Amino acid sequence: MSADVDCVVIGAGVVGLAIARALAQSGREVLVAEATEAIGTGTSSRNSEVIHAGIYYPAGSLKARLCVRGKHLLYAYCAERGIPHKRLGKLIVATSAEQAAQLEGIAQRARANGVDDLQFISGEDAMRLEPALRCTAALVSPSTGIVDSHALMLAYQGDAENAGAQCVFHTPLVSGRVRPEGGFDLQFGGDDAMNLSCNVLINSAGLQAPALARRIDGVPAASIPTDYLCKGSYFTLSGRAPFSRLIYPVPQHAGLGVHLTLDMGGQAKFGPDTEWIGTEDYTLDPARAEVFYAAVRSYWPALPDDALAPGYTGIRPKISGPHEPAADFVIAGPAAHGVPGLVNLFGIESPGLTSSLALAEETLARLADDASSHPSH
Ligand SMILES: Cc1cc2nc3c(=O)[nH]c(=O)nc-3n(C[C@H](O)[C@H](O)[C@H](O)COP(=O)(O)OP(=O)(O)OC[C@H]3O[C@@H](n4cnc5c(N)ncnc54)[C@H](O)[C@@H]3O)c2cc1C
Repeated sequence: MSADVDCVVIGAGVVGLAIARALAQSGREVLVAEATEAIGTGTSSRNSEVIHAGIYYPAGSLKARLCVRGKHLLYAYCAERGIPHKRLGKLIVATSAEQAAQLEGIAQRARANGVDDLQFISGEDAMRLEPALRCTAALVSPSTGIVDSHALMLAYQGDAENAGAQCVFHTPLVSGRVRPEGGFDLQFGGDDAMNLSCNVLINSAGLQAPALARRIDGVPAASIPTDYLCKGSYFTLSGRAPFSRLIYPVPQHAGLGVHLTLDMGGQAKFGPDTEWIGTEDYTLDPARAEVFYAAVRSYWPALPDDALAPGYTGIRPKISGPHEPAADFVIAGPAAHGVPGLVNLFGIESPGLTSSLALAEETLARLADDASSHPSH
């Protein structure tokens, strides 16, 4: 079968770029098509930039496995490539006896995921480490850190391009079809609308991935999950934070709770909260600050009035609804939908940044299981 390009990756977020890098480095011809003007304008630039340890996810899930593997790969990659990152560590803090009892369950789940470096400490010891903190007990996670996500994406893009990949912008995939003889016909819009055929198609379109899969004729509808949007708002702290580690409450509802993270410049931010929404909308309601003051003061009582300023929002690409158990990552290859050469990535919410290199490995493994995705010429 002949095609214009061997592999097309849709979406130049952190995951699409990691996959493009891995495909190009494996010797394949790769085109990355991005709808917007630049890399990382979607969820990849609207998150906490935390390198997660892999603590909370159900044992055996892709989130657990790829987070732990991804964390190791990411620290090694950042060190090798000089990408700004810091292994700050984090404290999961209990502010009541009931929450202190929940820490054991969190530590057990972490151990089942291969995260065996958590340490229990008393409230006094936690407050010695972080004097501004108020808590009754804590878990220390030494392998949690932060990364400059834009520098990371630039490095992935650079690696991909050095291995021959090409990234094109203002190039949204509008529709496509599975060709009977194998491969795909794709229709792109944007400045230079074009049609193109390829052997391998990676749908890494983030929030748009399910909608995009529905526009590719020949992909079974039953293999595409319902998508939901869950917004998270962040507020930034005016002035320096009196903390040197990340501070997370014991998770209570959807999400990990309003936590404190620091960026590479030392700026502290709090978030994200959870708000289920119907359409992609990044506006931040300043009135949400009230809830943030209450949540943060549960572990930092001295947070000054007027210290929080509206920061930004990000949207989680959910594939489970508000009243359903959280879904795992879905990396749907030919075994899931029966279409050779296609991998759809659905529900790549947190810890997608941490897992990006492992998600790329997993995507290539799904393709390798599918011999017919390799061009015959
Ligand atoms: C609030 C929040 C906090 C988070 N915090 C963390 C964290 O601390 N640590 C962590 O590990 N993870 C975190 N995550 C998760 C992480 O940010 C994501 O998993 C990751 O950024 C997903 O990357 P992606 O490439 O799949 O998606 P995106 O970055 O959204 O990229 C998808 C790209 O596809 C493009 N696109 C869409 N449709 C088309 C089309 N038709 N044609 C061409 N291009 C298209 C979009 O423009 C976009 O650039 C967080 C997520 C959220 C929402």
